[in-house]
Amino acid sequence: MSDCLFCAIVRGDIPADVVLRTDRVMAFRDITPQAPVHVLVIPVDHHPDVPSAALADPVLGAELLQAAAQVAVAEGVADTGYRLVANTGSHGGQTVHHAHLHVLGGRGLTWPPG
Ligand code: AMP
Ligand code: ZN
Repeated sequence: MSDCLFCAIVRGDIPADVVLRTDRVMAFRDITPQAPVHVLVIPVDHHPDVPSAALADPVLGAELLQAAAQVAVAEGVADTGYRLVANTGSHGGQTVHHAHLHVLGGRGLTWPPG
């Protein structure tokens, strides 16, 4: 989508600190990190949110989770633990309407979220 921020990152029109890229998924550091490790995992193709992406393309849903697991290993948080977040819709607090998983780690995270 031409007016989508993360599609612009996929195209390279907006710079990002990319940590993983395949022909189907991409991961880059969040511009406003909420933890020592805060990486966003997105599909290359535009989907409005993670559940929609998984419903439209179940393999892609699995690929997003696999990419998140690979990021956790690469960022050194797989052993200490981390949190995957898919904010979805207005009440979910989603602000960018291109599917993304947050990979958060590197410190103890509180629960429940606000
Ligand atoms: P959400 O609120 O779940 O939709 O998450 C969107 C995330 O995108 C937020 O954590 C933002 O900090 C992050 N973000 C916004 N613009 C950029 C950007 N240009 N590069 C990297 N992350 C971004
Ligand atoms: Zn998009």
